[in-house]
Amino acid sequence: MLKEKMKVALNKQVNAELWSSYLYLSMSYDMADKGFHGFEKWFASQAKEEFEHARKIAGHIQAMDGKVALEPIAEVRQAWNSPKDAFEDTLLHEKKVTEMIHFLYELATELKDYATVHLLQWFVDEQVEEEETARDILAAIQKIEKNEAAMYLLDQKLGNRA
Ligand code: MG
Repeated sequence: MLKEKMKVALNKQVNAELWSSYLYLSMSYDMADKGFHGFEKWFASQAKEEFEHARKIAGHIQAMDGKVALEPIAEVRQAWNSPKDAFEDTLLHEKKVTEMIHFLYELATELKDYATVHLLQWFVDEQVEEEETARDILAAIQKIEKNEAAMYLLDQKLGNRA
């Protein structure tokens, strides 16, 4: 059984993951508007991943006999100045998500909710990857942003993301 405090916090994270999905979907459309169709695909895949994160947490709430509460999703930004701007935003956002996951992990530990600790361990590891990926792509963009041909190749490369 989920304790009330844990349930409320996990439901809040479901909403945060859906908001992340919404944010990356918005970036995807904006990249398409700017003609970066590889970045478009990359952010669309990212949006799907975030949707699955929401479902993973919601599934855990249900498995623990809790009620999933889907709240309204707040508005997201609609345009970025460049792919670099979008990835700077991505890295900042992922750092915030990491903090949220760590807060949940601490709460689950305090409450001795070991099933939730186990679920959150997956998210702790996932966040290490998310931050690393965003940092790597941002570093690549910073090296080549003034070179249109190189940006074209990076866009193509990122479009190959499964
Ligand atoms: Mg996520």
